[in-house]
Amino acid sequence: MKTQIVKMTMLNWNKIRVPLKPGRSLMDWIRLTKSGKDLTGLKGRLIEVSEEELAKHNKKDDCWICIRGLVYNVTPYMEYHPGGEDELMKAAGTDGTDLFDQVHRWVNYESMLKECLVGRMALKPVAATSETCCTLPEEKKALNGMLPKNKVLDDTFKDLTPSYDWFQTDCLVTVVIYTKQKGMNSEMVIVDHQDGRLRVDSILRDYSYLLHIELSYEVQEDITVRIAEKVGKVEIVLKKKNNLPWSKLGQPLECHNSFIKYTDRGLYYRKCKLVSKTEVTHDTKLFCLMLPQSTHLQVPVGQHIYLRKIIAGTEIVKPYTPVSCSLKSDFKEPFCHDSTHLILMVKIYPNGLFTPELDHLQIGDYISVSNSEGSFKKSQVQTLEDLFLLAAGTGFTPMIKLLNYVLTNVCTVRIVKLMFFNKTEDDILWRNQLEQLALKDKRFEVQFILSEPRKEWTGKQGKISSSLLSEFVKRSKKDSKLLICVCGPTPFTEQGIQFLQDLGYSKEEIHSFTA
Ligand code: FAD
Ligand code: NAD
Repeated sequence: MKTQIVKMTMLNWNKIRVPLKPGRSLMDWIRLTKSGKDLTGLKGRLIEVSEEELAKHNKKDDCWICIRGLVYNVTPYMEYHPGGEDELMKAAGTDGTDLFDQVHRWVNYESMLKECLVGRMALKPVAATSETCCTLPEEKKALNGMLPKNKVLDDTFKDLTPSYDWFQTDCLVTVVIYTKQKGMNSEMVIVDHQDGRLRVDSILRDYSYLLHIELSYEVQEDITVRIAEKVGKVEIVLKKKNNLPWSKLGQPLECHNSFIKYTDRGLYYRKCKLVSKTEVTHDTKLFCLMLPQSTHLQVPVGQHIYLRKIIAGTEIVKPYTPVSCSLKSDFKEPFCHDSTHLILMVKIYPNGLFTPELDHLQIGDYISVSNSEGSFKKSQVQTLEDLFLLAAGTGFTPMIKLLNYVLTNVCTVRIVKLMFFNKTEDDILWRNQLEQLALKDKRFEVQFILSEPRKEWTGKQGKISSSLLSEFVKRSKKDSKLLICVCGPTPFTEQGIQFLQDLGYSKEEIHSFTA
């Protein structure tokens, strides 16, 4: 658990926020970058920066940081950084890529800091064994120093490296990926076909095997993905537009045939269409987004995606956790995905940066949606007996699919209890559905705790506390297999974890949902 807390204390837009001075919001920063001021002190010139030069700029009033080979003068940004100046100073005069990646690799710093760009790090000669994600030598050269570190597996892992092949009939082209991993399922394969480019990302534990090809000829929009779970074989079936024979599958594109850590792969976005917007409460809505026909993406339980939008000329990215369209009260059908739509439950903050813009989208408008991420694994609940969910506000979102999944698929589970913290009764998301579920399923119990209740409220009140938790979290039997999931505002999550640890629950028994 320690690592999670450390992670949360580092720079991040959504996590710890130090109070910023008035006029230092993200929107104010965007305005400053558009003002035409010389933010680098170089009058628009871009320079090559040596390590020695970078190291000289390590003070608050003169601070340069290198991220993925590009050097930024972040001095003017100091006061705008939501994580505070001290967090930014941790990387002053050095390569901050790792630090940055640990907490918010999804933030589009290129866009946010583009007016602070000083130049690139001076290239160093590439060693013969240089680490890079790509297998193509030309790309290694062109992208020297700009790619994530880590990456091609050494010889001991060669046998585990996936490979691919393809074959054709008169009207079909089938691409086959041999992942060499048993227990593959359709959540582990993300396929996109856009503008003649096929991109297949196979997620194998913490690694990603990417196939990225400019296809030889046009194919139809709809694609079929078949998975032979036991042998780990993935087949992508494409329909030819003109039934000609293909002499090759196509041209390799960036990072084609590479096998790297999943978190080192940049986020990939596709445009999804808003098909409905429904009210949940006075400030929260369900947004239903339709995936392109040529995309195969199923977000696993407990994972989130990122939405990306240009706001005032700057690319803004925020995480959201897809939900099911309702809580299942009939568990006869096995839990399954709607693989054509993503449903997001989003609270609109009138003075927020992103959510008012999202709310302004009209039905039929498009928004960019990334691949999914998240540390939660279904294996954490597979033989579970007791599940406790501590949710605050929209921290309820990851609990929705989890509830549906556990109550439907985990036959060992005996109790599932949700403790749902909100400010007022009007803020409780899906209250009716939760109460219905509790009536229908004896294993499920829900408790609402309000921090700002009206006088008439007879239920529990207050904020998360050790006494509330010790009363609520109780094993169904001695040594029962238990998991406690926590999600909400950062102070809520941090306090919850601390109280649970103080009550004697182990690190493995607590999961917090974070970006
Ligand atoms: P922001 O501009 O971030 O502002 C939000 C509020 O904070 C406003 O009231 C604003 O005034 C205030 N604020 C802004 N800056 C500061 C500051 N420095 N100090 C104090 N207050 C400040 N949200 C959902 O609704 N649904 C989800 O499914 C969901 N899933 C998430 C999954 C993950 C993994 C994470 C990390 C977050 C998730 N969120 C979710 C939250 C979401 O990512 C956004 O943070 C949220 O939508 C607010 O974005 P915004 O840009 O509109 O608001
Ligand atoms: P909110 O402000 O309406 O607060 C809901 C409840 O949270 C309050 O009633 C209170 O009980 C508790 N709470 C709030 N601030 C607290 C504090 N400082 N200390 C202790 N308890 C506190 O909540 P909201 O506006 O719906 O915000 C939900 C939060 O959940 C956001 O910060 C969002 O980023 C986060 N979230 C995270 C994930 C994730 O990490 N996977 C998913 C969804 C939402």
